[in-house]
Amino acid sequence: MNWETLTQIDRRHIWHPYAAMPNTQPVYAVARAEGCSIELADGKRLVDGTSSWWAALHGYNHPRLNAAAAAQLEKMSHVMFGGLTHEPAVRLTQLLLELLPPTLNQVFYADSGSVAVEVAMKMALQYQHAVGQGKRCRFATIRAGYHGDTWHAMSVCDPEEGMHGLFSSSLPVQYFLPQPASPFHGEWQPESIRPLENLLAEKHDELAALILEPVVQGAGGMYFYHPEYLRQARALCSRYGVLLIFDEIATGFGRSGEMFALEHAGVVPDIILLGKGLTGGYLTLSAAVCTEEISAAISRGQAGAFMHGPTFMANPLACAVAAESVAMLRESPWRQRVANIEQTLRHKLAAAAQWRCVREVRALGAIGVLEMVQPVNTASLQARLVEKGVWVRPFGRLVYLMPPFMISQQELDFLAEQTLAAVAKEYGEAWPLSE
Ligand SMILES: *Cc1c(COP(=O)(O)O)cnc(C)c1O
Repeated sequence: MNWETLTQIDRRHIWHPYAAMPNTQPVYAVARAEGCSIELADGKRLVDGTSSWWAALHGYNHPRLNAAAAAQLEKMSHVMFGGLTHEPAVRLTQLLLELLPPTLNQVFYADSGSVAVEVAMKMALQYQHAVGQGKRCRFATIRAGYHGDTWHAMSVCDPEEGMHGLFSSSLPVQYFLPQPASPFHGEWQPESIRPLENLLAEKHDELAALILEPVVQGAGGMYFYHPEYLRQARALCSRYGVLLIFDEIATGFGRSGEMFALEHAGVVPDIILLGKGLTGGYLTLSAAVCTEEISAAISRGQAGAFMHGPTFMANPLACAVAAESVAMLRESPWRQRVANIEQTLRHKLAAAAQWRCVREVRALGAIGVLEMVQPVNTASLQARLVEKGVWVRPFGRLVYLMPPFMISQQELDFLAEQTLAAVAKEYGEAWPLSE
């Protein structure tokens, strides 16, 4: 197909994420992608700084993941999960059980991250109902969180940055706590936990669960907070019979420097959510994994079963690729790679901390963030980034880098330098800095 025709049809007829119709923002046509490189229709190559939104851990077009998909296609792409099971789901489950804390071992496979959040919230409600706490039907969370775009997931996203204003008359009302004031790399300030302490003391008989992105808040602000918050939240939830849900859809599989971000705190939730990187960025698949205490209570409850079952539950093709991706991750020196990405990004991006347009520079695991003073003009900055040969997708006040773990040192240096060059050009900052 002619690329010009393609982008015209796209612009007129196809919705893009958070976009208008016809699309007012430019979109770039991709011909292929391999390793850490995205090749545009005009032949231009971009070094990927997004992992396609936390997902492509091993880069694109990986021979082992391709082979796993092809081998599974020869058997079946999909069969229903009602009354049937298959090796890809069981193999993936075995691998996940080896990585997760041992009490998290009851796995529900869903289609996307948002659906896993819905599933976890339903699990919490069914559990509370089953243990005679049916009045506990609300949820608590912290501000600046992001948990997805479906209904109840949206209700626990940040109430100001999220879509609460627009949908407020029909969204369930949840309890919002301040963002933990103690940053990851700072000292723990005991006042950070008081709002949660007070909320649970007053409202625990209304609360089914507390849902948090552990340590790293992703799309809601790319903020890293102190792990002590999680240790204290765990103790408080246990004391008041409130379930603790960790949304590790973005942080799971090494991104924060640990296999799961909960390991920074040594805390085990009642339900953990996985998605995004689960299939190495190949296909959509997510999991909500709970304890036997929860599954047993739900199964003893009124319904006698957990009331959820998507058509494409545990899709064999997605599970086969996910199992291969998890196996590859474990065999790879991911911890060193992520540590090296953190060190490089922290070192390289530090230059921008002096700029007037930049509020803060931070890095944790394979995530580097320039928090700007003002919201960026995405279309204009994006065009400069593409011109410089990098694929980075700024939003709001954030310009952030989270490349695939296998990125080479040369590509990583290029990614960081060209991102700074694009930002400097956009804001008229001097770059490169004179020695
Ligand atoms: C992306 C994300 C979701 C939603 O996942 P989708 O697959 O986009 O539905 C939920 N929680 C977190 C923390 C995420 O980063």
